[in-house]
Amino acid sequence: MKFQKMNKLDTITSNHIICLNSDLYSYLDQKEFIIYTKENVSFQYAQNGFYNYPFSFEKIKGFVSVYIEGDPTGNKILDYEQLIEYRKYCIQNHMSFYFGSTGKLFYKSRLYQIDMAYQIQQAQKAQLDFTYYPVYDLLHQSKFRSSFHLKQKDKEYIQNKGMKTIEQHAYEFVYKKLKVKLIQDGKQTPFKGHPIFIAMHACGCCCRSCLRKWHKIDENHILNEKEIAYIVSILINWIEIELVNTN
Ligand SMILES: [Zn+2]
Repeated sequence: MKFQKMNKLDTITSNHIICLNSDLYSYLDQKEFIIYTKENVSFQYAQNGFYNYPFSFEKIKGFVSVYIEGDPTGNKILDYEQLIEYRKYCIQNHMSFYFGSTGKLFYKSRLYQIDMAYQIQQAQKAQLDFTYYPVYDLLHQSKFRSSFHLKQKDKEYIQNKGMKTIEQHAYEFVYKKLKVKLIQDGKQTPFKGHPIFIAMHACGCCCRSCLRKWHKIDENHILNEKEIAYIVSILINWIEIELVNTN
């Protein structure tokens, strides 16, 4: 992990962790907070993060990750609609988004009072986490890769099945088509028929040769569980981008 420390709010330029935890409020003026660097896109909670609630979109421009946590003691209400808005903004602006905890007071159609023991669990249940991988920037620059998009019927299919099921499908396809290099490598992934196929082409995960080119994964070895999980995550988060960008 590579962190940089800063003292003043006005010198913030990029890559901060943002956190909605009232305990951290005082850090703004008094203490250092941690800057998240571009080398580390994966998220780690920083205890003395940057508190700014409600923060304006302007202020989170250029950050790598946004982490949201409701107030555990109930001084503030975390609103689901607002959360979804932040998430959409993050996805559209190439930032990862993590929903860490609901806090004590969470509003979604009605006000929920959530016991401390369930605040993290309930946040995870919402399945709002989104990881922006730097490779998306590169894929976006490729005319061929960036020409793939989900169609309306793909989106409806995803909505009907639910993301959990789509993720299972992704695992099945990756096992079948990528785990071991096939003799017909390069031809195993259709161009339609399932949203995951589209994602595989868009993300350079359609065959082992493309996996090597785009993700630096050795072409000939058998994929391990970690690599398979990484590929699935690349595909699922690409789908999240597609869903947000056309809704
Ligand atoms: Zn390929």
